[in-house]
Amino acid sequence: MSETFDPSGHRGYCGVVCPHPPILLPPVGRGRESDAVATRIGMEAVAGRVREKNPKTILCVTPHGPAYRDAVCVSTVESLEGDMAAFGAPGVRMALPVDRVLADRIADCLERAGIPVVPEAVRKAPLDHGCLVPLYFIRTAWADFRIVRISTGFLSVEAHLRAGAALRTAVEEMKEKPLLLASADLSHVLRDDGPYGFHPDGPVFDRKIEQILRSGHLGSLTSLDAGMVENAAQCGLRPIAVLAGYLGCDAEGVGQADVEIYSHEGPYGVGYLTAFAAGCKGADDGDG
Ligand SMILES: [Zn+2]
Repeated sequence: MSETFDPSGHRGYCGVVCPHPPILLPPVGRGRESDAVATRIGMEAVAGRVREKNPKTILCVTPHGPAYRDAVCVSTVESLEGDMAAFGAPGVRMALPVDRVLADRIADCLERAGIPVVPEAVRKAPLDHGCLVPLYFIRTAWADFRIVRISTGFLSVEAHLRAGAALRTAVEEMKEKPLLLASADLSHVLRDDGPYGFHPDGPVFDRKIEQILRSGHLGSLTSLDAGMVENAAQCGLRPIAVLAGYLGCDAEGVGQADVEIYSHEGPYGVGYLTAFAAGCKGADDGDG
């Protein structure tokens, strides 16, 4: 029945949480990135964990790809490319092969789980900064991977948790599980002098996300107060919910992840958190 909890990755399911501030890249920040040194160190720690796992495929879950009101979007194309020209650094560019077979299977599993999905082949979009910024750091440590981009939409948080579970189903048969990258900035309203000003719910949101991650009970992301979440002006909740589902956590409280947080700060008024998450106690009990 129940197996021993393996904190290094229950059955190999694991993922990372990374923010995506372009300013963090030296060619964009031009010195200003030094205000977020804890985040840079956190990104390097994440990159080190990715190298340890040496995943052949990274599932990039981003809030800044092609976004649909009532669907998620999956990159069913041969490759994705993009650069940071919009942020003044056209020299930072990437072209990454897509794991097409897996992308098709993911689209299929999402549909079967009742999550509307738009295949990206319909309208190919460049690699967005939600993917580019974390991958910039990851690629300094590990570059031998293909990706599948999963762009979150405006479906509920609970639907995104179920989308993560569908991703889990899609990779079930794979001996070496893909690593999931949840690209996620937290609240954008942490400081009066930040680009979006201050709202008291900003710090509340950031605190709650950190608490939930530390607890490992990631399914409770679905029970955050909707008004508070709205006021917090965030883009990361849905990608993190997809990670939660991928690790086997559900809204009923089944499943527990093992999360290691490397950094959490908001030097520019936007919350940045870096973490590695593995395993999921309970999720597979009974079928393993
Ligand atoms: Zn964002």
